[in-house]
Amino acid sequence: MKVAVYGKGGIGKSTTSCNISIALARRGKRVLQIGCDPKHDSTFTLTGFLIPTIIDTLQSKDYHYEDVWPEDVIHKGYGGVDCVEAGGPPAGAGCGGYVVGETVKLLKELNASYEYDIILFDVLGDVVRGGFAAPSNYADYCIIITDNGFDALFAANCIAASVREKAHTHPLRLAGLVGNRTSERDLIDKYVEACPMPVLEVLPLIEDIRVSRVKGKTLFEMAECQPNLNYVCDFHSNVADQTLSKPEGIVPREIPDRELFSLLSDF
Ligand code: ADP
Ligand code: MG
Repeated sequence: MKVAVYGKGGIGKSTTSCNISIALARRGKRVLQIGCDPKHDSTFTLTGFLIPTIIDTLQSKDYHYEDVWPEDVIHKGYGGVDCVEAGGPPAGAGCGGYVVGETVKLLKELNASYEYDIILFDVLGDVVRGGFAAPSNYADYCIIITDNGFDALFAANCIAASVREKAHTHPLRLAGLVGNRTSERDLIDKYVEACPMPVLEVLPLIEDIRVSRVKGKTLFEMAECQPNLNYVCDFHSNVADQTLSKPEGIVPREIPDRELFSLLSDF
């Protein structure tokens, strides 16, 4: 099964992805997490360091794809989760989306699909165009991370449009939204009323999650010595269980931009 986690920059995609990946691995699944954000820190809390990216590796091999071995680009992370980072071109040069497209291609060539039960793509998606859309050409499910604010919901709506478009040619379904770093959910609820889709979980702001990023550890690893964190792990385990249950999901119908502005505004 292939799952693409999309959402606006900084919304908590990587944090959520890493914890869902561990929850899946704990259920006996062979999991590969692929960071598709030029920020290339998707798997940082799983490995504890910034692993060499596909772009770093390709550069070191003069872009000879045939010289790239799985062990060059796949690194072991916490809980047995395998980790890949697409990386990005140097600032101001080239297109991050192109790198993502090439990463998906390379993994197909490495036959990664047969090695794993779950491949989880962690993809930057303020808009989903070009190469950033590549994982959704390949995925069975999309999960959107959002908070209770306008910008993240605007991005979610763009992602929904992209899922609808892809679903014409490919059996991609939107599993649902995960609310993150918010105790309020009034705007999320307003949005899903207008654009129906499941809400899988809503996670509040949790100081220990911020700390986990700084420590380079996932929440699951921190919970080993701080059992009081187990309740937070349960949020991610719940999303993992819902994914494993192969939900029917939906093909969303995004809201026109102007309607979304008036829906989420007070005037
Ligand atoms: P993205 O991958 O979407 O760019 P990250 O997962 O890197 O976002 O999260 C951005 C920052 O927000 C990180 O420092 C992370 O620790 C923090 N963060 C994410 N989710 C939460 C949360 N629920 N509570 C507190 N901090 C969070
Ligand atoms: Mg990230």
